Amino acid sequence: MALRFYNTLSGKIEEFRPLQDNQVRMYACGPTVYDYGHIGNFRTFIAVDVLRRFLRQSGYTLHHVMNITDVDDKIIRNSSRDGLTVKQYTAKYEKAFLEDASTLNIEQPVLVRATDHIPEMAQFIARLEQKGFAYRTEDGSYYFRIAKFPGYGKLSKRDFAGMEDGARVDVDDYDKDSARDFALWKSPKPGEAFWETIIGRGRPGWHIECSVMSMRELGESFDLHAGGEDLIFPHHENEIAQSEALTGKPFARFWFHARFLLVEGEKMSKSLGNFFTLRDLVLKGHKPSSIRYLLSSVPYRNQLNFTFDGLKQAATSVERLRNFRFRLTTANFPPGASESMAQLARETIERMKSALEDDLNTAQAQAAIFEMVRKANAAIDSGEIRTDDAAKLLTALEKFDQIFAVLKDDDVPKMNSILDWARAEAREKEIGKELIEIVQSGELSDAQVNQKIVEMEQARRGRNFSKSDAIRAELASAGIVVENTKDGVRWKRK
Ligand code: AMP
Ligand code: ZN
Repeated sequence: MALRFYNTLSGKIEEFRPLQDNQVRMYACGPTVYDYGHIGNFRTFIAVDVLRRFLRQSGYTLHHVMNITDVDDKIIRNSSRDGLTVKQYTAKYEKAFLEDASTLNIEQPVLVRATDHIPEMAQFIARLEQKGFAYRTEDGSYYFRIAKFPGYGKLSKRDFAGMEDGARVDVDDYDKDSARDFALWKSPKPGEAFWETIIGRGRPGWHIECSVMSMRELGESFDLHAGGEDLIFPHHENEIAQSEALTGKPFARFWFHARFLLVEGEKMSKSLGNFFTLRDLVLKGHKPSSIRYLLSSVPYRNQLNFTFDGLKQAATSVERLRNFRFRLTTANFPPGASESMAQLARETIERMKSALEDDLNTAQAQAAIFEMVRKANAAIDSGEIRTDDAAKLLTALEKFDQIFAVLKDDDVPKMNSILDWARAEAREKEIGKELIEIVQSGELSDAQVNQKIVEMEQARRGRNFSKSDAIRAELASAGIVVENTKDGVRWKRK
């Protein structure tokens, strides 16, 4: 088997194969850095991260590029409102985005910034004009002539046969329902930021930036292009039109789109009060690992309904996995191996692989690991597990974590830095008491608990009972219940 996923361009689930050997060239549309990223954005970025991680786990080498949109109408408007340059304004949100992505263990692609490629965009537009695909308007803006590109609509499956030739849209907030000649370049209005280029003064449209930077980094034809489903039209449709008009070659071969996220059953919006940035959730006391787990738990093409109940369940799932790993790494198993456990580990790895190969079915992959945890826990209880089995089960767990990335127990330090940020930004009002409790009232991270238990066991074996009792009491006061079983020490939170 090989990876199969839904290609928006063909409208079918297809087997994915790169154009060149084992090299995957992939471009994902990145954030517009005018504000903090919300959980809808991170739903898509995590879906792409899962795809990226699975491609690498499957043995591909990856050239993965993502743009940072650091110029658009909103950015120009907000920066001049705040009396800042475009760069000064976006630097803060770009930094915040990269921090948030790292908080969620999203691996970093090669980053390219729109403002670093303005001369190339101007050149691209000049060449489109030479070929008759672009025209200049009186004010010095440039538009793409859709009527000249017969393939227009092939990604979004819309029929534009009856469209009015030369009708234009002027803003970044493109009309979603009708095709109009779209802006490639906009001349500046008085007082607006602009760049001086071979096609005159102005700033690039949003679509042109992705065509120029993706082809510059990955070549005229590349393997995979990704983003949220809202980008299918007009953004990606327009990228295809510009790029293929210029080169006459197919642009990206596979198009991957993540479905929009809902919150408590509704479209996320500031006016409904259900709009959350990653930082909002952490300030309420939710762990980054729970958020990542929840955002990856529903396959990318299914609608994820984000709920606080779901977030709690995700936290429990992550804790179960971490506790299972702790149990496997610390218990004293008898030497040897049992065929049933080796088989369980093998089957789990196989099931996870086929689930992900099947249009990235993350829910099935998670179900497979939990079935393993359940069976292995029962086997530990009944004394069936041997040393070699533990190693094999751990390998299956590691494979799982190469994709889902929730086992490393670094939530508390990450939450701590978001707390510091909130204080520095004078956002004390938003800091929930749960976060303070976790960070400051001594909630021990799983790793810290594990470490203390190791120390307690060492003290006990060395017959230093006053020390082992003191550690046990310290754990108890932090809400950790320690149990001695015949297979070693287990713990849980009260
Ligand atoms: P933006 O910063 O608005 O350009 O969006 C960055 C990425 O987030 C794009 O791939 C969007 O498609 C995606 N996105 C925005 N809102 C949502 C949402 N509610 N659910 C899923 N993806 C989203
Ligand atoms: Zn894009």
